[in-house]
Amino acid sequence: MIQAQKGTKDILPQEIANWQKMESAGYEIFSKANFKEIRTPIFEATELFARGVGDSTDIVNKEMYTFEKSERSLTLRPENTAGVVRAYIEHGFHRLPQPVKLWYKGPMFRYERPQAGRQRQFHQIGVEMFGSAEPSADAEVINLAVKYLNKLGLNDLEIEINSLGCPECRKKYREAIKEVLKPHLQELCEDCNFRYEKNPLRILDCKVDSCKKIFEKEEIQKVILGDFICEECKEHFEKVQEYLRALNIPYKRNKQLVRGLDYYNRTVFEIKSNNLGSQNAVCGGGRYDSLVETLGGPSTPAVGWAMGMERLNSLISKTPEQKLNAFVISEDTTAAFKLVEELRENGFSAEFDYANKKFKKQLDKAAKTAKYAVILMDDEIKSNTVTVKNLDTSQQVNISRTEYLNYIKI
Ligand code: ATP
Ligand code: MG
Repeated sequence: MIQAQKGTKDILPQEIANWQKMESAGYEIFSKANFKEIRTPIFEATELFARGVGDSTDIVNKEMYTFEKSERSLTLRPENTAGVVRAYIEHGFHRLPQPVKLWYKGPMFRYERPQAGRQRQFHQIGVEMFGSAEPSADAEVINLAVKYLNKLGLNDLEIEINSLGCPECRKKYREAIKEVLKPHLQELCEDCNFRYEKNPLRILDCKVDSCKKIFEKEEIQKVILGDFICEECKEHFEKVQEYLRALNIPYKRNKQLVRGLDYYNRTVFEIKSNNLGSQNAVCGGGRYDSLVETLGGPSTPAVGWAMGMERLNSLISKTPEQKLNAFVISEDTTAAFKLVEELRENGFSAEFDYANKKFKKQLDKAAKTAKYAVILMDDEIKSNTVTVKNLDTSQQVNISRTEYLNYIKI
């Protein structure tokens, strides 16, 4: 028997209600803020991710599903920011009035070790806001993340924020981190040694326990907690926080938060839940002012985030399956078909027994699947009536064909 691949999952009809809720909540919250949905292809040129996500990241180095077709190297998207940026440039969105505000949802692919909260095909929902360097843009996207989570009934998540500064002020920080980590290189994991050369700040994002222990050392914490960002970056970050406070969004400053991607500058943030175990991040994002230019567009500031929908799904309470409004019971298939159509056209969900089984069997099926049975047997056909039976209370009424719709409630 052929089975679903390791790290992939079917989302079954009995679980779909939560997924539809996550999608419609996104649509509602984001369109209220004038963010428009964009859908980009699931595969792109490999180079887009190598340049756009960064070749010192785990994603590009280890996690990409890359394949060749007609001598082109293609990759299943591991995230959607690079694809959205490509589309922004390709369709000349930089010529539109700015900011351009977009949101997306869909499957992403990363070759990782499958475990709770970690799949190889998973889903993200996210927003990207282009063309504004203002701290209010950072606050707006964080605000949207919070509003989206609230809409899903999630109110007790931890929001951590940090500022990585601009490339200029980060240089100083990078040097300081390199220096203080140098004596520990042998104890740090292989990945960290690689990052040390390529992108030393990202060492602080390492999830390996023995590495995390090293970061706790006093002299290293001193550098992490030190003030390295320039006046302008500081002011920007202060403003972001001022807006968050004005919006009553609780947050914590985490000076060790660097995020796994190469392209971030200034504000970075993560939203975590204590109910998720070790894969506890639901949302990650930040400002990426150089990415549009890196990918061949004009210099354009941008800020955005992505949420993992599987992790979200495990946090929201299960939506109970909805019962049908009506089940039509009849021994005359054509008459049943017509009645079902009438119900559907009047806004009700309805079905009937296609196999024309015995009355009792049909009633059993109706009781399992619907709120009302609409009975159309010989007697009813003769008198041009139907019998409507409330399947919760067992009450039933015989009523004319012109009035029965009023007895059925959604
Ligand atoms: P992590 O540290 O958990 O690997 P990340 O930094 O790689 O996360 P991002 O690239 O920022 O994650 O993606 C944003 C969100 O997407 C994460 O916070 C998480 O909720 C979700 N996510 C990332 N990778 C996976 C995966 N393999 N399976 C399920 N969800 C994932
Ligand atoms: Mg990861």
